[in-house]
Amino acid sequence: MNAPAATCPAQPPRLRLRVTAAAESAVRGGHPWVFADSIREQNRPGETGELAAIYDRKDRFLAVGWYDAQSPIRLRVLQVGKPAPIDAAWWRTRLEQSLAKRAGLEGGRTDGLRLIHGENDGWPGLVLDRYGEVLALKLYSAAWFPHLAQVAGLLMDTLRPASLVLRLSRNIQTAAPKSGWHDGQILAGAPLNGPVVFRENDLRFEADVLRGQKTGFFLDQRENRALVGGLATGRDVLNAFSFSGGFSLYAARGGAKSVTDLDISPHALAAARRNFALNQVDPPVARCRHETVQADAFEWLAGKATRKFGLIVLDPPSLARREVERAGAIRAYGSLATMALKHLQPNGWLVACSCSAHVTAKEFFQAVRTAAKGLEEWRTTGHPPDHPAGFPEAHYLKSIYLHR
Ligand code: SAH
Repeated sequence: MNAPAATCPAQPPRLRLRVTAAAESAVRGGHPWVFADSIREQNRPGETGELAAIYDRKDRFLAVGWYDAQSPIRLRVLQVGKPAPIDAAWWRTRLEQSLAKRAGLEGGRTDGLRLIHGENDGWPGLVLDRYGEVLALKLYSAAWFPHLAQVAGLLMDTLRPASLVLRLSRNIQTAAPKSGWHDGQILAGAPLNGPVVFRENDLRFEADVLRGQKTGFFLDQRENRALVGGLATGRDVLNAFSFSGGFSLYAARGGAKSVTDLDISPHALAAARRNFALNQVDPPVARCRHETVQADAFEWLAGKATRKFGLIVLDPPSLARREVERAGAIRAYGSLATMALKHLQPNGWLVACSCSAHVTAKEFFQAVRTAAKGLEEWRTTGHPPDHPAGFPEAHYLKSIYLHR
């Protein structure tokens, strides 16, 4: 029997790339990005969000990933080594692997954590955060747009949240409406009518999942906040670049005499006041005096030290968003520490953090150590387990603890 002639439009051939030798060995070694200038050859122009395969010098399959025609990161690797269909079963397995890594982190005391940390969990350009019953899915690459409905379906089936919210990094917000998506969109489940309240080590916090920075909270500082809680007893604490008071609530529960939140954003400080209100059931929090100061922390710290503190946290936003800003950022970290020391009491603690991926841990620690000569170093910390860092550019978070 003759089969009827095929009527469906001809599929374009699979997008195939050849890359430089350096890119080939980086990908083989597990690096998840191929930059546009590393691509030597491709069989046709590609579209953002389609699968592209890399073939090596001997014409063997090397990797497959999302092609992104608009981004300098032209390919984000999904699978290296052996070919596999990137289908529903493949994504389900990936999700199970990400969740298995977090087993034990989520429990009675904490229901706010990162479930998928982008490239480091094999989901390049995609982050998934849980805030209690609400999931926030944040995309950093437009390559996800054609696949978003499928991913949302998988997340709803597996995790069954009350709401699934879409957040978009700034660089892809203008392209999103063409694909039918927008920042703050409810992908599935109930609408949100305000910030979500969740628990972190039994403290209650709100997260502005629809509009806030990152996905509404800095989940990556959970472990540092717990350490600060243990150091704050009986001290007057200054939380510089406080955002919504994360470090402050731990300090208050740890028995701090007072905490002062210093931030340039009135919205952040209003959230800090609400977070204190949410935890008044905790006696040490209720006893702790809480103040907020709205100011540029650089200017405020440069001013006169009229009142000194027994513990100071410095957790500025990224000071080097691009490689060219690296040297300036290193100097700024040093001068922040120098200025903070003027406000530190004898026997005081200084906790300095950096979230600039372009500044290495070594460079940051060196800058702070030089500024804080004479102080004793207790420890340094890096990434918490729900924010694994699997390749050099992924290491952004580092903190150092020093005392007089
Ligand atoms: N430590 C916080 C996260 C800090 S995020 C936590 O644990 O949640 C960085 C914060 O710095 C933001 O809230 C931002 O509003 C604030 N910020 C940015 N530039 C500032 C400046 N020049 N002075 C004071 N605060 C600033």
